[in-house]
Amino acid sequence: MKFEIITLFEDIIKGYCAQSIIKRAVDENLIKVNTINPRDFTEDKHKKVDAPPYGGTAGMVLQCQPIFDAYESIEKEDDFEFIMLTPQGEKFNQKIAVELASKKQIIMLCGHYEGFDERIRIGLKPREISIGDYVLTGGELPALCLLDSISRNIKGVLGKEDSAEYDSFSEGIEGILEHPHYTRPREYRGMKVPEVLLNGNHAEIEKWRKEQRIVRTKQRRKDLLEKDKNI
Ligand code: SAM
Repeated sequence: MKFEIITLFEDIIKGYCAQSIIKRAVDENLIKVNTINPRDFTEDKHKKVDAPPYGGTAGMVLQCQPIFDAYESIEKEDDFEFIMLTPQGEKFNQKIAVELASKKQIIMLCGHYEGFDERIRIGLKPREISIGDYVLTGGELPALCLLDSISRNIKGVLGKEDSAEYDSFSEGIEGILEHPHYTRPREYRGMKVPEVLLNGNHAEIEKWRKEQRIVRTKQRRKDLLEKDKNI
């Protein structure tokens, strides 16, 4: 899987990808992460990539030319997805992460300032994705959210001891929330590990976990128990 991220702030992406599980995935060649800076493509002699919006209002808008050229410089695989990060897009979830994990190449376009000249959307026809109903200063954190959650669903990225299949929202647990976890010590500040987890009876443990998943989901996310949940 190749991630190609079009961004004015390459260090944000590089910094994240140099840590923890994503770093290991890069080192083991399970994923490749490449950044493309529109500033390297601008024809403006002052290296500008943005301009004030026609019609007035505050803020700056990313211009077509550097973005089109940056996008067109990327060599496309036969099975790629092109994503624009925007708060106005379809809302990202686990189902989309799993779907995108089967692609060979994901190209992501990060906005900044007021966002994009509308002709970028019209001309390049990206799939528009939002990470939630709030507005961030740039598309780098959303791009990293996608990169991270997609990567977790690529075979080999998580170690043997960990698996995305039984995470909250995943198919392995029917799209609901995961059960609670406990680790050593058996008692901490008077709070005890539930007895059932200590008795070694795997059937009982699994029964308890299943019940806990349902209780949690009822308490926190009733919507996930309804028919059209996102798995
Ligand atoms: N003016 C735009 C609007 O109201 O729709 C918001 C622009 S925002 C300040 C700048 C950039 O951050 C966007 O172009 C987008 O790439 C990114 N961004 C901000 N919030 C986001 C979200 N919830 N999901 C995905 N991308 C987001």
